[in-house]
Amino acid sequence: MGTRGAQILQIDGKKIIELLNKAFADEWLAYYQYWVGAQVVRGPMRGAVVAELLQHAADELRHAQMLSDRIIQLGGKPLIDPKEWYTHTNCGYSVPEDEHIKAILKQNIEGEQCAIDVYDRLLKLTHEKDVVTYQISSEILNDEVEHEEDLQALLDDINLIK
Ligand code: FE
Ligand code: FE
Ligand code: MG
Repeated sequence: MGTRGAQILQIDGKKIIELLNKAFADEWLAYYQYWVGAQVVRGPMRGAVVAELLQHAADELRHAQMLSDRIIQLGGKPLIDPKEWYTHTNCGYSVPEDEHIKAILKQNIEGEQCAIDVYDRLLKLTHEKDVVTYQISSEILNDEVEHEEDLQALLDDINLIK
């Protein structure tokens, strides 16, 4: 990392890299959970739900990219083996065994709620200590809050079907 960029950190860079890698693992698993969910999902409003799931998948992949960029900037390395996603993840991976739209939506809502907690913690930790990571976390948190709301709104609509 650039000299001055490193000097303004008021927090252990290694610790931040570790936490960013945990979030990075979450994002890849979330990406796949959305992507594969969109392939197998069945039920009412399928077209709308598939479109939303794929859009969220693309967002999660973009989050993984943002985290990787920051990890490298801090002198770290993103997890290079997908096996490590499982050992580093905060939020885990929910296998979409039940392909019903409601079950898939519920799994992904839980994932988003976990992601919101992860970035909220990261924000509290980096506040005024690592402004760059703070800004990235804030941008991602905005998306996760929107994701949760989108999925809950879809589930509400589906529950209104008679
Ligand atoms: Fe994300
Ligand atoms: Fe999300
Ligand atoms: Mg959305």
